[in-house]
Amino acid sequence: MRDFLCDFKLWLRTAEMEAGMRIGALEAGGTKMVCAVGNEKGEILDRMTIPTETPEITIPRLLNYFKEKEPEAMGIGCFGPVDLNKHSRTYGYITTTPKLEWKNFDMVGAFKNALQIPVGFDTDVNGAALGEATWGITRGLENSIYITVGTGVGMGIIANGKLLHGMLHPEAGHLLLRKHPSDFYEGKCPYHGACLEGLAAGPAIEARWGKKGAELSDRSDVWKLEAYYIGQALVDLILVLSPQRIVLGGGVMHQAQMLPLVKEEVKRQLNGYICTKELEDMDSYIVLPSLNDNQGIMGALQLALNEKGE
Ligand code: ADP
Ligand code: ZN
Repeated sequence: MRDFLCDFKLWLRTAEMEAGMRIGALEAGGTKMVCAVGNEKGEILDRMTIPTETPEITIPRLLNYFKEKEPEAMGIGCFGPVDLNKHSRTYGYITTTPKLEWKNFDMVGAFKNALQIPVGFDTDVNGAALGEATWGITRGLENSIYITVGTGVGMGIIANGKLLHGMLHPEAGHLLLRKHPSDFYEGKCPYHGACLEGLAAGPAIEARWGKKGAELSDRSDVWKLEAYYIGQALVDLILVLSPQRIVLGGGVMHQAQMLPLVKEEVKRQLNGYICTKELEDMDSYIVLPSLNDNQGIMGALQLALNEKGE
């Protein structure tokens, strides 16, 4: 009987070790919250999605999920802007979001206080950039950029092997662009009008052409103009940051004709000024995400591991 118990305990410990650590991950978006439990290998073992309502409704539901799973650390990729300065009094807060109920909400505090575990925290798009850089298509590269073109435009930048933060975090979705001479749409950004997000995010496409992007597949002029703006932004980023690869994700990139058009535009606008082996191989330079829409949640796992010091 004792032998059996010893064997059983040994088996249990081996099984636990094979399953790896138990890490919590939260992709906190403006419309939905994806929570998951995974391990240090990037494997997702369980997942739950709920709508983003008010903090009073949503946070207790998230806490219940994570309390039950007993993770040893968790990571959060969060819609923003967020305060990422660890020396700031409001580190871990969502700051000036247009989602007013969440304005000045202490996201890290809510989870840290309830779960008493290390909580890694970053923007949602930085999370996705980290997911791809750890387990996906930018793995092993010291310098890469992840861009999402969806309801807004977001960018996560990996520079010298680390997410670039600076005084806040890059907000390159709002790069100021030169308008196309035949585009008379004034732009949708409440701050800048015709910035990248204001000209090229999904809602700008809908406002300019009177239909949602998905219903405009047969209009080549729509996608040429779209690629003109995204290409222009990419050229600026290539000139400033010298990335080794750029990943383009988000709903607008579901439009299959976009990727080739963007590559063409980048070549045209760079106009031969930079010659590298990376740019010569444009098909592996500007690419789609590689983790089946798990890049955000997998990145949140890595945020947890970073915070834990693993
Ligand atoms: P979010 O940015 O809110 O996380 P998405 O990345 O899915 O969500 O982006 C949603 C935006 O992408 C919407 O504005 C939608 O109109 C646009 N979109 C979704 N599918 C397509 C498509 N096939 N072609 C063009 N635009 C699309
Ligand atoms: Zn803007």
